[in-house]
Amino acid sequence: IAEIFETMEYGPAPESASPAVAWLEERGRTFGHFIAGEWRDPRGGEYFDTSNPADNRPLARLAHGSTEDVDDAVRAAREALPAWQALDGHARARYLYAIARHIQRHSRLFAVLETVDNGKPIRESRDIDIPLVARHFYHHAGWAQLMDTEFPGATGVGVVGQIIPWNFPLLMLAWKVAPALAMGNTVVLKPAEFTSLTALLFAEVCRDAGLPAGVLNVITGDGRTGAALVAHDDVDKIAFTGSTDVGRIIRVATAGTGKKLSLELGGKSPFLVFDDADLDSVVEGVVDAIWFNQGQVCCAGSRILAQEGIAEKLTARLRERMETLRVGNPLDKSVDIGAIVAPVQLDRIRELVEQGRQEGASLWQPSWSCPTEGCFFPPTLFTDVQPSSTVAQVEIFGPVVVLMTFRTPSEAVELANNTPYGLASSVWTENINLALDIAPKIKAGTVWINSTNLFDAAAGFGGYRESGFGREGGREGLWEYIKPRWEVAGKGSAPRRETVRTKPP
Ligand code: NAD
Repeated sequence: IAEIFETMEYGPAPESASPAVAWLEERGRTFGHFIAGEWRDPRGGEYFDTSNPADNRPLARLAHGSTEDVDDAVRAAREALPAWQALDGHARARYLYAIARHIQRHSRLFAVLETVDNGKPIRESRDIDIPLVARHFYHHAGWAQLMDTEFPGATGVGVVGQIIPWNFPLLMLAWKVAPALAMGNTVVLKPAEFTSLTALLFAEVCRDAGLPAGVLNVITGDGRTGAALVAHDDVDKIAFTGSTDVGRIIRVATAGTGKKLSLELGGKSPFLVFDDADLDSVVEGVVDAIWFNQGQVCCAGSRILAQEGIAEKLTARLRERMETLRVGNPLDKSVDIGAIVAPVQLDRIRELVEQGRQEGASLWQPSWSCPTEGCFFPPTLFTDVQPSSTVAQVEIFGPVVVLMTFRTPSEAVELANNTPYGLASSVWTENINLALDIAPKIKAGTVWINSTNLFDAAAGFGGYRESGFGREGGREGLWEYIKPRWEVAGKGSAPRRETVRTKPP
């Protein structure tokens, strides 16, 4: 594997892949499941490859989780539950603090491993993903300490099955694992098949941090493994982040089972630009909204809605800016857009872009070409787009943005809400009264004003409509992982506990 990296032609002064190479080689490039605090071979003996999308070469072999493997992991989580739940919140917090510190200590390894497995620019994994992951564990360590006073009488839900996507592999893990552990649940996590490596490193970190065996279990595999976890009788809650299509399947599969469920699904988030907006900020806002993480962001601002007075200027400025973006080796610190996660995803982007062209939209791409080896796609802008066209309605999950125009604020709101989704949005104007008037009219779980893609562990994130339900982060995110309880001493007497105060948001 060292050879693979040595032969890659990277740009000037790339971040060295050597920490990831050394880590993979030390483990023989083969990984089992992490169950009950130890590595276990897959019962069915089946493995699959995970590759570096920047060159399509395999990085490691991962165990494919069968129904029996899932059963083992759920049993381990069930056995670990009573002792973990019985711990005082302060004791659980100590483990979360230790995990956070270990993540910080290994942050370079985590960042490089994430970048080679996922294709995201090292600048993003190093400066955004990994610091936010540590922040999530610190934040939720605080909540573990506060659980008894803030949620008196409440207990964890039980054994939680968590299924995550590939776009922010470790960050999505943190959004799920940190609140679950803080509130006294045990976890079986299934990372996405394209990007499991940082979850496996995380399992090692948990073991090094002394987390009791069985509190966190990691099962690798594809949708079949996820489906087995969803179907398991002894799982109390499923937390899923991924596509709306799979979310629907999971909702059907859990209906009538008594399992608690939260779904964080897709989006087609509007990016509203009014005539008086600050154009420089808007242009950089678009870069951040749709070209961050190759546009593989659930809340990506993928639909620019520009007021007629600014649309032409904005289009010209965006085209200029697209010329200056750099697509290429994700380990190069000056690269803006890395590799698309996998060939199958690249094909999907290409097909949708072709469909947009056939539907009559005008396509803008920079004059330069992307690297030909690996999964690369250039930043792309569609204008002359019909609101009902495929590219205006379907989540492309790539570096592709559509631009449509509006005349009045009410028309802007109508267009903004004209998709089945409701995840996020942003409003750009120098008139704060206008922004505050528009924001509540947009059907979205998050509205950013003159900014985009801002996340914090203390701010609940999630959607509604076909973007799912439930929140992650903040106080509201904790409701997904607790069973509130109202204990009453006897007939006619007052409630003994004050759980009644802890209303969901
Ligand atoms: P996906 O739905 O294909 O896969 C997500 C996960 O579900 C993977 O781990 C996969 O193996 C598993 N899975 C697939 N089929 C399954 C089944 N039948 N039962 C159980 N598990 C199954 O999604 P993806 O392509 O990995 O991720 C992209 C999607 O995720 C986009 O739609 C994006 O918007 C969404 N997303 C949403 C958020 C959010 O917070 N709302 C965040 C990130 C990504």
